[in-house]
Amino acid sequence: MTLWASLVLVLIASLAFGVVYLAGGLVLRNTLKGYLMSAVEQNTNKINWGTAQEDTEANIYIAYGDGYLEIDRDFLDVINDVYAALYTSGGEMLYGEDPVARHTQDRGFTQTELWEITVDGIRYDMYDRRLPQELPDGQSLWIRGCVSEAGVRAQLRETARISLILMPVVIALCVLSGYLLTGRMLAPVRDMEKSAAAISRGDDLKARIPVSGSDEIGRLGTVFNGMLGRLEASFEAERQFTSDASHELRTPASVIMAQTEYTLEKDRSPGEYREALEVIQRQGRRMSALIGDMLDYSRLDRRPEDYPMTEVDLSAIAADCAEQMDMTADRGIGVSADVIPGVAVRGNQLLLERMITNLTGNAVRYGRDGGYVKVGVKRTEDGCPLLFVEDDGIGIGSEEQEKIFQRFYRSDASRSLPGTGLGLSMVKKIADMHGAGLSLDSEPGKGSTFFIKFPPV
Ligand code: ADP
Repeated sequence: MTLWASLVLVLIASLAFGVVYLAGGLVLRNTLKGYLMSAVEQNTNKINWGTAQEDTEANIYIAYGDGYLEIDRDFLDVINDVYAALYTSGGEMLYGEDPVARHTQDRGFTQTELWEITVDGIRYDMYDRRLPQELPDGQSLWIRGCVSEAGVRAQLRETARISLILMPVVIALCVLSGYLLTGRMLAPVRDMEKSAAAISRGDDLKARIPVSGSDEIGRLGTVFNGMLGRLEASFEAERQFTSDASHELRTPASVIMAQTEYTLEKDRSPGEYREALEVIQRQGRRMSALIGDMLDYSRLDRRPEDYPMTEVDLSAIAADCAEQMDMTADRGIGVSADVIPGVAVRGNQLLLERMITNLTGNAVRYGRDGGYVKVGVKRTEDGCPLLFVEDDGIGIGSEEQEKIFQRFYRSDASRSLPGTGLGLSMVKKIADMHGAGLSLDSEPGKGSTFFIKFPPV
């Protein structure tokens, strides 16, 4: 990783050097061309033609024909490596400097145009400018400017030399900063790796990845911790369930063991054997009911795909359940439906049937002899589907109303009756799976009503 980061940095540095080198060359050449043109242009008004020498201090006079060419003394013949020379249109140099004069004399002049010539491997930029004056012999005057690229080349060579000297330092800096940077960036990843390794060794499920900052790695850590939290909760739930289940099964198993040991101690009368077998049968039934409910309960933890949710007719499901429960209800209890038709919810039919059956079964079990159970469906004021199961049975004390939804919890009043303590925890789980809210209205001795409020479809 460090190697890669350093390599990339070195590449970027080399690229930057290359770009600076090329751009520097271009800029320098353009600057020189600018100097060339401005030097020539500045010289244009420094030439005159006259018949008399007027001010020999300020001017240089060159005899030409029957007069003089008057040239200002500040005619720039060499400045900043730019040369300028005065020519006749016939190619005769009258004044100034031109290092490539021998090679360009025959070329002729082109008004205000930049052109190039290469002499002895050195490229020169040239610029010609015609002056307004005419000479008496009909020839015109030209200023020819010239600048060599040798200077640019030398400067570029110098830049390259410095770059090459600096390159190893830059590379060393790149590698060092790459090493430090990646080390710093990867530190949280290394912490994550350590925590994940500790967790996968099974040392500590409570361990969390240290999260610092809210950058990408910080967010990854938070997501990871969220996942670990859920994993821990699910392991804990599993562990708790196994421990609760063994605890619940231990009681009937101990009763069976104690009963058989006691009965087998000596010969018994047929009546005593019968009594013992009845105790064993009761505890066997209880164990079987417990195992059945535990299986049903654990099945609810399957993947959501196993319980597809569709739009279902809650009114119809409730009415059907009420009808079936009415047929099996004992002790003179009547189960009736009180539903407004066509109330739909988004849910799973099997789960909803299970929920209504559990609630109605409880209402019958903890109901008054000859009492009633009502399975209802209506809409709340805010338009949400509401399922309720009402009875006039033993009721539930306020201190127990929270606890009855816990697994295996059974109230003191109901211990003498058959049951596993798993029915309501299943109801709660199914309500959760549907995003529904569960509430209870109950008074001991008067009866209970369980409400399930579904979200609107
Ligand atoms: P189980 O009925 O198998 O004991 P549940 O989880 O269904 O288990 O119910 C837990 C406890 O809640 C019951 O033991 C009972 O004490 C109480 N309970 C549930 N429904 C009612 C009801 N309709 N009337 C009175 N008590 C109830």
